[in-house]
Amino acid sequence: MDRVILIKYGELSTKKGNRNYFINTLYNNIKNKLRNFDVVISKDRARMYIKFKNEELDSIKGVIDKIFGIHMYHIAYIVETNEETIKSKVLEILEAKTFSTFKVETKRSDKSFSKNSQEMNNTLGGFILRNIDNIKVDVHKPEVLIKVEIREKNTFIYLDNYQGSGGYPVGTQPKGMLMLSGGIDSPVAGYLAMKRGVTLEAVYFEAIPHTSLNAREKVVKLTEKLSQYTDKINLHIVNFTPIQEAIYKYCRDDYCITIMRRMMYRIMEMIVKTYNGYVIINGESIGQVASQTLTSMNVINAVTNIPVIRPVACLDKLEIMDLARKIDTYDVSILPYEDCCTVFVPKHPVINPKLDVVLKEEAKFNYQEMIEEAVETLDIKVISYNDDKYSDLL
Ligand code: ATP
Ligand code: MG
Repeated sequence: MDRVILIKYGELSTKKGNRNYFINTLYNNIKNKLRNFDVVISKDRARMYIKFKNEELDSIKGVIDKIFGIHMYHIAYIVETNEETIKSKVLEILEAKTFSTFKVETKRSDKSFSKNSQEMNNTLGGFILRNIDNIKVDVHKPEVLIKVEIREKNTFIYLDNYQGSGGYPVGTQPKGMLMLSGGIDSPVAGYLAMKRGVTLEAVYFEAIPHTSLNAREKVVKLTEKLSQYTDKINLHIVNFTPIQEAIYKYCRDDYCITIMRRMMYRIMEMIVKTYNGYVIINGESIGQVASQTLTSMNVINAVTNIPVIRPVACLDKLEIMDLARKIDTYDVSILPYEDCCTVFVPKHPVINPKLDVVLKEEAKFNYQEMIEEAVETLDIKVISYNDDKYSDLL
């Protein structure tokens, strides 16, 4: 094992007081996600190091690319901190490559090392020029940039940069409850919330027989995709049928969606309180549909004091779609199974609902008991990622 994955924390390094908490959470997340690999993981205040088996590197990279809190990583050669050893390793690495211009960038954090960074750049640059033909130094646009980080015991040498997924490690924030439908927006909202460190659980409202089991499987599949960014996700499945039928039986057609969404928020509030969450998260985007105008949001949100986080509120649909493709939820989201919001859509949903009308309509049936019943009878599935599960769906 003469190479390691060298992980840089990025945004984490701006956290002063609780820096250790962030680093430890990241460390535990990495350890957990790589539990089935033959790796040795260590950390210090600035970096994390993963020793790996060459044949597992590609799979490990696939996992690491989905761990939030990693800003950048490198596959670095690790040698003993000693000038001659560093020189011969640098040469060995470069001799295996074809290039015509290069630059050496040394960072010496071990101040007891005899040469400073600039002197080491010169030493290594001269040594490379003397040993490889037909190449020259280009400090502005080198074809090969070789980085040498000199630390007390070991020196790390690397040519590549891999972008990590950024953000904060999942688990640095407590639980948020994601309203997860089968659409494009809500999985993206869940992904963005996890990127800020939120511990995620998902809630799906279904209205069987108006919606099918295929629609549920779609949400399960989406949860599974999202779970790649964390460990497991609890998916709460709420039977929304009685409430939805009552709304359509008793309430004004154009207000049905507004009222339906208020009922969802009421149920969400109860779920948040019952399962120790702190916020509601959803995929609402300003102006996207009638229930997402600012006036609608105001009337709908009035049923709860729990903060509602809307990560995609200010994104265009096309931007959301790009993110959905990036996180690989898009293909599942566009499967045609109906959602409880789509089966009952009235022709002309109200765009600027009035609270007094809403209250009058809601007074027509006893929803409180139905809401409690929905929370009491919900079903929880614990979902984690497994490549071959549910593949029959696609
Ligand atoms: P689309 O991508 O087609 O807009 P959507 O999931 O965003 O799908 P909307 O009708 O825009 O559907 O709903 C707004 C938000 O409300 C969703 O992003 C989701 O967070 C929540 N939501 C809607 N329907 C459900 C449902 N059946 N279960 C859970 N949450 C839902
Ligand atoms: Mg939407």
